[in-house]
Amino acid sequence: MRIDLHTHSRVSDGTAAPRELVRAAAEQGVDVLALTDHDTTAGWDEAVAAAHDFGVSLVRGIEVSTRFRDSSVHLLAYLPDPDHPPLARMLGEVLAGREARVPRTVARLQELGVEVEEADVRAAAGSSAAAGRPHVADALVARGVVEDRTEAFRRFLHPGRPAYVGRETVELDRAVRTVAAAGGVTVLAHPWGRTARDVLDEAAIARLATIGLTGLEVDHLDHDAAARAELAGLAGRLGLVVTGGSDHHGTGKRGHDLGCERTDPDQFERLLDAAAEAARTAGRSTPEVVWSAATQ
Ligand code: AMP
Ligand code: FE
Ligand code: FE
Ligand code: ZN
Repeated sequence: MRIDLHTHSRVSDGTAAPRELVRAAAEQGVDVLALTDHDTTAGWDEAVAAAHDFGVSLVRGIEVSTRFRDSSVHLLAYLPDPDHPPLARMLGEVLAGREARVPRTVARLQELGVEVEEADVRAAAGSSAAAGRPHVADALVARGVVEDRTEAFRRFLHPGRPAYVGRETVELDRAVRTVAAAGGVTVLAHPWGRTARDVLDEAAIARLATIGLTGLEVDHLDHDAAARAELAGLAGRLGLVVTGGSDHHGTGKRGHDLGCERTDPDQFERLLDAAAEAARTAGRSTPEVVWSAATQ
């Protein structure tokens, strides 16, 4: 069984509509797909309908932008009640931070002499609920300033590059607790990817486990073999679930093909057990996995 628990649609910064993402998963032999758009659940309904149509099992998720010790940390959240007011409020705050950054980034680019307007970014973002640097990158591609997103990040948008602008997010602890209160479970996304491993060290992860963290995304392209081995050992010591996912962004991110990194079925079962327990503890009615006939 091929289980990919980390993907993006154009509801955030992927390039395919949720329906097309689910269709592609079916075509490429992914049995279980989690849609984890950044900071929004706006793609869930379309993905659920497509999961029924194309026979893919679907897990409703979110990749929440948080901060921890002044670093950006991505937190995967699975199966929370999206109508839980504190969760909705928290995501609203993160999305407001994204909105506020767009004009500041455009102003920075203009100061650098790049001809780009806020309207270009808005056009590139289209119906996305989570405007981000990838859409700025797309605007620069449309303007002929760069060839692709990769070049835009390398020249302008990565931290330390001249058009990088930070944005307001939320505290990691709050996000872990809020998702749990909404009856969902959390997994640290690519913990030793862009986030330095001395930020999310074993002591930090152990403490997160005590406040409700359920798992670590070990199998991710940002981790080399040594990091994976160490993280898996750490997960074992702390009783955390080990997950894997492609972090697919359609054509927006090189190499992250659907299903290229996967979650072990036994670990997936543990994650679902934890989600059921979280929903019971929180006393919330949470979304079910959409099971396809093939994986039922
Ligand atoms: P933001 O969400 O606006 O802070 O931008 C971060 C997003 O940019 C990540 O979620 C990735 O999808 C994307 N990203 C980061 N680096 C690159 C890159 N080199 N090429 C393409 N996309 C990237
Ligand atoms: Fe992204
Ligand atoms: Fe991420
Ligand atoms: Zn992601």
